Amino acid sequence: MKNFALVGAAGYIAPRHMKAIQATGHNLVAALDTNDSVGIIDSYFPDADFFTEFERFDRHVDLLRRLNDGRKIDYVSIASPNYLHDSHMRFALRSGAEAICEKPLVLNPWNIDGLQDMERDTGQKVNTILQLRLHPAIIALHDEVQSQPRDRKYEVDLTYITSRGHWYLQSWKGDEKKSGGIATNIGVHFYDMLHFIFGDLQENVVHYSSPTKASGYLEYANARVRWFLSVDVNDVPQVVRNDGQRTYRSITVEGEEIEFSGGFTDLHTRSYEEILAGRGFGLEENRVAIETVAAIRTATPQGMTGEYHPFLK
Ligand code: NAD
Repeated sequence: MKNFALVGAAGYIAPRHMKAIQATGHNLVAALDTNDSVGIIDSYFPDADFFTEFERFDRHVDLLRRLNDGRKIDYVSIASPNYLHDSHMRFALRSGAEAICEKPLVLNPWNIDGLQDMERDTGQKVNTILQLRLHPAIIALHDEVQSQPRDRKYEVDLTYITSRGHWYLQSWKGDEKKSGGIATNIGVHFYDMLHFIFGDLQENVVHYSSPTKASGYLEYANARVRWFLSVDVNDVPQVVRNDGQRTYRSITVEGEEIEFSGGFTDLHTRSYEEILAGRGFGLEENRVAIETVAAIRTATPQGMTGEYHPFLK
């Protein structure tokens, strides 16, 4: 049985990590969050130690390492705000543990280089949650593209509107310095998925960018992709809103909808299974997606020219 620590234990996604640790038969030994609304821990690991101060957490993790009584932390799971990930990963590696880090791994590509140095120095590994790479429908599409002529270009439209209330822009998620902005925070899943399916990134154009929506064009070795992301409920098509829905997700390939709304719930547990079997996605596998979001963040939007997404109106 492996021992886990969890950073960011009070947050929205933390229970998915607790569930994955439990479902894979392992133990959460210690948890950290600056916020103490962590009663959820009792549903999974009532014996876990909890800290609100990093320094006390650090001391405890170090003690467990030195005691040599089987409680040494093997994995530190990281579910803190995006801009803290690299620091928390360094803490994990320095503590003699592997890291399991949420997306986006980091905000900028050069952060990956620093972490690679740290992996070499400590002999420990960074694992990441790239859960869409484990989704059966995405794997099937990946395999189909692999079976086609190498120069085939698919026409792809990606539309993802996931409405958020007024809290979003008041929280760290609405602060570009902390989350990287909407394309980084929400889009990174999809840019990684597109790279995984369609290969090397060749062109990256941004048409529009604001705190609540962004849109652009990406060309990969095997695809031409118009993309549109939004957290604004007004972008959800009226017919969908009439049904009471606040989310709209569509990926079409050659005009055909890819059905992948099911099969999402257990992807954290699937990710943990892979990591524990030594097959976790590592630092280098994140590089293209992180380069993509960093370039989108710093690009000058071109307006409605060229291959812009039809939702951009
Ligand atoms: P959240 O704001 O709900 O949770 C973040 C938690 O981190 C909060 O409880 C906060 O108090 C805590 N925190 C802040 N500073 C800290 C510090 N210095 N030390 C320890 N804890 C600290 O956010 P969330 O939605 O749970 O997102 C957390 C991470 O998970 C983000 O990186 C996000 O991008 C990622 N995420 C991934 C998915 C996915 O599908 N893989 C979905 C949502 C979020």
